Amino acid sequence: MIDTHIHADARSSEDFDKMFISGIDTAISCSYYPYKLDNNPEILLNHLKRILNFEPRRAIEYGLDLKIALGIHPTNSLKNNTIIFDSLKKWIENKDIIAIGEIGLDENTELEREVFKKQLELAEETKTKVIIHTPRKNKLEVLKDIKSIVLNTIDPKLVVIDHINLNTIEEVIDEDFTIGLTVQPQKMEVEEAIEILDNYGFDKFLLNSDISNKPSNPLSVPKTVRTLKRLGYGPKEIDKVAFKNAKEFFGL
Ligand SMILES: [Zn+2]
Repeated sequence: MIDTHIHADARSSEDFDKMFISGIDTAISCSYYPYKLDNNPEILLNHLKRILNFEPRRAIEYGLDLKIALGIHPTNSLKNNTIIFDSLKKWIENKDIIAIGEIGLDENTELEREVFKKQLELAEETKTKVIIHTPRKNKLEVLKDIKSIVLNTIDPKLVVIDHINLNTIEEVIDEDFTIGLTVQPQKMEVEEAIEILDNYGFDKFLLNSDISNKPSNPLSVPKTVRTLKRLGYGPKEIDKVAFKNAKEFFGL
């Protein structure tokens, strides 16, 4: 199994152990700095470097192969971002990261939109995959803005729109995006994810837990996959969301 969106830096070694034992071979760790940056890019750069240089070593001790996506999370948007963009370019060139992420809009401020667009332009220029966050608050409204910026800036085939639920699925299902379903306490239960897969098919979807410093379940991907099996969905369909779609999309 592949958990396509986690925040390894906010989690314990015990979580990595449980995830691997439960059948997760690979996880993608995205960047999100949960504290204040005070418009200081050095703080963000340290955070990104820690994820890149430290977390994969910590996870592989428990068998978990950690791939890395780095970028400026919307809540970390900062004006003074040149050194971050220089580093992102270098990491893309060196293939240190498999995607730019997570990026997107949260409060939908002008600065967020500016930083988001600039990252999409870099992704389009370098043909890099992007993982796009959609917010908890005003999800549908903000998603509409995300969608219009994305479609005007980048090939949608490079894009995962993440944290999609029953209220927002119709907005994205007919585009060429890959769609992330985040099964997480207070956000979306296993049943809702399964309802979406049942209604819209298994071809476009990735599963993830988005484990972070907020309420999370490191086993939400295996829980969803095993529930699908218990309910009688076929192994080919299950394999798409458990493994194959993510493997193909990210070229793992
Ligand atoms: Zn996240």
